[in-house]
Amino acid sequence: MKQRSFWLAAAAAALILSGCNTGSMVSTDQEVDVGRRSAEEVESQYQVITGTAEAREIQAIGDRLKAVRNRRDIEYRFKLIRNKDVNAFALPGGWIYVDSGLMDLLNKSSVPAGYPGNPTKTDMLAGVLAHEMGHIEARHQAKMMGRAELYGIALSTLSNKNTQQWASVFANINMLQYSRADENEADALGIKYSADAGYNPYGLVAFLDLLNRTSSAGGTPAFLRTHPSTPERIERTRKLAAQYR
Ligand SMILES: [Zn+2]
Repeated sequence: MKQRSFWLAAAAAALILSGCNTGSMVSTDQEVDVGRRSAEEVESQYQVITGTAEAREIQAIGDRLKAVRNRRDIEYRFKLIRNKDVNAFALPGGWIYVDSGLMDLLNKSSVPAGYPGNPTKTDMLAGVLAHEMGHIEARHQAKMMGRAELYGIALSTLSNKNTQQWASVFANINMLQYSRADENEADALGIKYSADAGYNPYGLVAFLDLLNRTSSAGGTPAFLRTHPSTPERIERTRKLAAQYR
């Protein structure tokens, strides 16, 4: 991916800027088009794992979560990929991926204690998936694409070429960064969807708590590079979860 590193650096700078909501410039069809191409890039780089108990669990959680979605024009796909990073991410138009490294961390860790209803590892995973779904439901990627107009890639002329450029931006999963406001919104939506789908809404809080402990023990999980997790975020999500129990 090095050959497009200059363009990607400029695009990544664009992605973290906050700005007015220009997501309405991007149609759902355009979102899905970018997402499909982006998913092809991701799946050419990382093996999709199917048929394992973990892959089936992700599928089962995804089925329950997508039943409570608002965007009925979006078809969600929840997939497990082989990648040692502790991460999960969403592509425009409904593609959500979990890295096997995140599953490994869940498998070897115990659930942080002290949360109401004692969330399970399934609740934690559901919280992560629901957070990623929140980015798609709130059209955060479409907003990013709308903002690219600032960089002379006008979406009013969304062409085959810049559709592919956007697909590559979203497929470059370690550079993508949402604004803090979008992260907060995805947290709030994710907790709501978790609860609506019948999971313990403290699952996401417990997961952030676990990541915080993991990173202080050494090494920053990829999820934290793209999703800053602080004691304040844990406290804020805990309050959000409390609304549902
Ligand atoms: Zn996020």
